[in-house]
Amino acid sequence: MAKRDYYEVLGVAKDVSSQDLKKAYRKVAMKFHPDRNEGDKAAEEKFKEASEAYEILSDDQKRAAYDQYGHAGVEGQSGMGGGEGFGNFSDIFGDVFGDIFGGGGGRGRGGPSRGSDLRYTLDLSLEDAVRGTTVKIKVPTLVNCGTCGGDGAKPGTSPTTCNTCGGHGQVRMQQGFFSVQQTCPTCRGKGKSISDPCKSCHGRGRVEETKTLSVKVPPGVDTGDRIRLAGEGEAGADGGPSGDLYVQVNVKDHEFFQRDGKNLYCEVPISIFDACLGGEIEVPTLDGRVKLKIPVETQTGKLFRLRNKGVVPVRGGSAGDLLCRVILETPVNLSSKQKDLLEQLKDSFKGKTHSPKQHSWFDGMKNFFGDMKM
Ligand SMILES: [Zn+2]
Ligand SMILES: [Zn+2]
Repeated sequence: MAKRDYYEVLGVAKDVSSQDLKKAYRKVAMKFHPDRNEGDKAAEEKFKEASEAYEILSDDQKRAAYDQYGHAGVEGQSGMGGGEGFGNFSDIFGDVFGDIFGGGGGRGRGGPSRGSDLRYTLDLSLEDAVRGTTVKIKVPTLVNCGTCGGDGAKPGTSPTTCNTCGGHGQVRMQQGFFSVQQTCPTCRGKGKSISDPCKSCHGRGRVEETKTLSVKVPPGVDTGDRIRLAGEGEAGADGGPSGDLYVQVNVKDHEFFQRDGKNLYCEVPISIFDACLGGEIEVPTLDGRVKLKIPVETQTGKLFRLRNKGVVPVRGGSAGDLLCRVILETPVNLSSKQKDLLEQLKDSFKGKTHSPKQHSWFDGMKNFFGDMKM
């Protein structure tokens, strides 16, 4: 396919000024930029074509060569020329668009940039996590300097455009045939210089401050959940937007309960009498104590489920359960009379009737050693 005329590609006359050329390229490039035309091959081609045209025509030397000899005069001199991918276009792209896209997205250019996100770990009791609460937290952060309003210049003065880069934040260095873009060494990419820095922030425009924030914790949160406070992170540089603050929830261990998602677990000691004869015990829940019926002949380790006494999850849904595991407690500090009575009780337990599990276990063990011929 024959190459289109570069002036035609950008829709400009042969005697176009460099400013109008830039404007024209900006218009075409905005229209066909890959971010706006995802998957559109034709648009991508048009974008590359325009970028190539602009790269040649924006360089006086190359433009002169092109004017005299046409495409042949500048063959192989464009970053995009015929090759695959986008090559060097990002350089000229950033050059032209840096001022619209706010600093060229992390390419080291100056200008406004978004403040950092902050993270804060919030320790909560299980009760507060389950019920929800509002807590005040103190966060050290960078805020816009109140003295200078964030521009870093002493009140009554204002920053001036950097003389070295003319406010672009970038300078072009000629290295042999190539021209290379570099962050301006004078203003470090900001495009502005401050002759009389603000005393409060030393010209940085931001100061450290401890902010007190009120965090609303919704009911049902769990360890690992994050609450986002938009715009409460660090202030942006040079008037850029603030970052966000992420409050990371950490639920502290509880005296009685272990939490697993929406269910709660607890261990409850019971006496051998309740275990044998049955009874009623009190167990803790997050809403206070409730009575739990222990059936006759309850074994240690048995799990009792109390429906809906768990946690209502923060993302909605039904409440979980509370699972109580009863642990049989061996009596201690026995008097001699109690020991006598237990001896008598023991004598009354003859045969396999009263502890079937123990007997089958011992039988199994005998078989095991029998098999080994010991
Ligand atoms: Zn200041
Ligand atoms: Zn500069």
